[in-house]
Amino acid sequence: MTEALYMNDSYLKQWNAEVKSVSNDKFIVLDKTAFFPKGGGVEWDTGIIKTDDEKIFNVVYTGKFSGEISHEVDNKGLEIGNKVKCNLNWNRRYLLMRYHTAAHILSGVLFNEYGLKVTGNQLTTEKGRIDLNMNVMDVELIKKAIEQSNKIIKKNLPVEIYSISRLNAEKDPNLFKLAAGFKHKIDNIRIVDIKGFDKQADGGCHVKNLNEIGKINFVNAVNKGKNFKRVYFQIE
Ligand SMILES: [Zn+2]
Repeated sequence: MTEALYMNDSYLKQWNAEVKSVSNDKFIVLDKTAFFPKGGGVEWDTGIIKTDDEKIFNVVYTGKFSGEISHEVDNKGLEIGNKVKCNLNWNRRYLLMRYHTAAHILSGVLFNEYGLKVTGNQLTTEKGRIDLNMNVMDVELIKKAIEQSNKIIKKNLPVEIYSISRLNAEKDPNLFKLAAGFKHKIDNIRIVDIKGFDKQADGGCHVKNLNEIGKINFVNAVNKGKNFKRVYFQIE
């Protein structure tokens, strides 16, 4: 099982690893990785894997297949046992971290203030999308929630990561508002705690302080049906 370094340190950009398996010449499993695999509505990391003899392989996609984090590279040549240096495409990852943390704030406000639940989300480097169980479309309410979210962001609250037991986590249904790619089966649940605002069970990458998010802007809202409204936002 690959050690997922991003779980403990979302700011790790460079690390050494060893190639554990290679499939179809291009799907690489490492002993440890900070490349976040697509999951929980958040896009994957890209970057490079470099061998001892300075051969560079671009990681074009990271996903989870049969429970393993798999890196798709653009070239053949990596072999089991290779010692490699890995580098994240940090600009991309950091933007995804900002979008992801922004989605926490927005979904927290929508739930706390209006009792609305987020039923899905998709976060890319271009925009964020959340799906709401809102019955009748209310764009003013959504804009107000974004305004309230921006006020919370300005409070510069710290974001802390720690683990609690699954038993304790399951006692608090509020921990599972924004489903983000963690497994209920594991014994310890990773908690993302936006101090004084909201806690979520979550396996993703977040910024350390809300002041890193910037500002959330409303883009548009689409009526996808009863109890299904889709909201697009951007951050600046
Ligand atoms: Zn999260």
